[in-house]
Amino acid sequence: MPPSSLNRPAGCSGVNKAGIYLHIPFCRTKCYYCAFNSHAGREAEIPAYMQALHGQIQRMGSHPWSRNRSFSSLYIGGGTPTICDSSQLTELIANSFAHFQLDAHAEITVETNPNTLSAEKLLALARAGVNRLSIGVQSFSARQLTNLGRSHTVEDVYLAFAMARSAGFSNINLDLMYGLPGQTAREWRETLETAVSLAPEHFSLYELTVEEKTPLAALIANGQCVLPTEDQVADMEEVTGELLADKGYQRYEISNYAKPGFMCRHNSNYWQNCSWLGLGAGAVGSLSGTKVSNTADPALFISRINNDEEPVSEIECLCRPAHFRETMIMGLRMLAGISVPELEKRFQLNPLHYYGKTMETLLEQDMLVLQDGWLRLSRKALPVANQVLARLV
Ligand code: SF4
Repeated sequence: MPPSSLNRPAGCSGVNKAGIYLHIPFCRTKCYYCAFNSHAGREAEIPAYMQALHGQIQRMGSHPWSRNRSFSSLYIGGGTPTICDSSQLTELIANSFAHFQLDAHAEITVETNPNTLSAEKLLALARAGVNRLSIGVQSFSARQLTNLGRSHTVEDVYLAFAMARSAGFSNINLDLMYGLPGQTAREWRETLETAVSLAPEHFSLYELTVEEKTPLAALIANGQCVLPTEDQVADMEEVTGELLADKGYQRYEISNYAKPGFMCRHNSNYWQNCSWLGLGAGAVGSLSGTKVSNTADPALFISRINNDEEPVSEIECLCRPAHFRETMIMGLRMLAGISVPELEKRFQLNPLHYYGKTMETLLEQDMLVLQDGWLRLSRKALPVANQVLARLV
């Protein structure tokens, strides 16, 4: 399918739309590769944390920035949100509806891990208005799940998926990772084929990145596990492209694939660098271009809210050119690209003039394509997207 026929995202210029992200920073165990703000073995803090999160929802709901704004998505991420019990989650969703103007057809996503679900919890989520599930699967290889320190089994994934369908979820994302230690293109194909056989509506597929100070980084440094070579990873990406296109999934962002009509609205808003509220420990929001980061430690977050203090650790107001560059880099992650007239309207800056020679070179080298007023990465640029985008920072 030619990229020009991709669904083009609605821009955010002049529209008072935004998303809401709520962070639950708790997990059963810590995966060996994880550098996210998530804490294992601190379940006892969950009730106090949820109370504090309600407090921040209430505060931000009455904030002038939120009051006259409608929200088209609510995304509850983590961590593992479904480590919470049904009532904790449904109260969180009800409270969000009570304090924010959520659109009647807002996309409401909950991230989950396969061994933290039950039929009862899924039904409760569906009744509370959740209409999208994002399941962290990562691999269908039992060996890889063990190597990654995942706390669930392959069987847990099948069960979770079947229960989600039975509870009525018709919009499910599966998160998978490739480029795992010892993984071959053949093994990746097997995982992907198994995943596709479940027929979810959406896939998020990320190459494993080894983060400093994680157990995985130590294992690699000690030679106890070995990552695939660049060529092997390229083969895995080729397998992905072929297999998913064949099954009707459209690649709409560098790492995201969807059946028609199932692009993630919340993340599309993020890639367009529009506005979203980030609530909870470590969450980052972007309020009309001002980045607001919350304090990462859940205990500190709780105490700040309880003491009527702001739980904010940093506020960064980007100047217009920096906000423009950030919007370029994020927007080009979407395969439809960025509307140049829309960018000009939003920032009074034209990317062709702003980047001058760099832009000319990228167009001449066929790394970027300008077509019908839309600027996008070329097919050739996709495997080296990070290097291309780095030239626009
Ligand atoms: S489930 Fe996700 S957030 Fe939790 S430890 Fe594993 S990778 Fe990190």
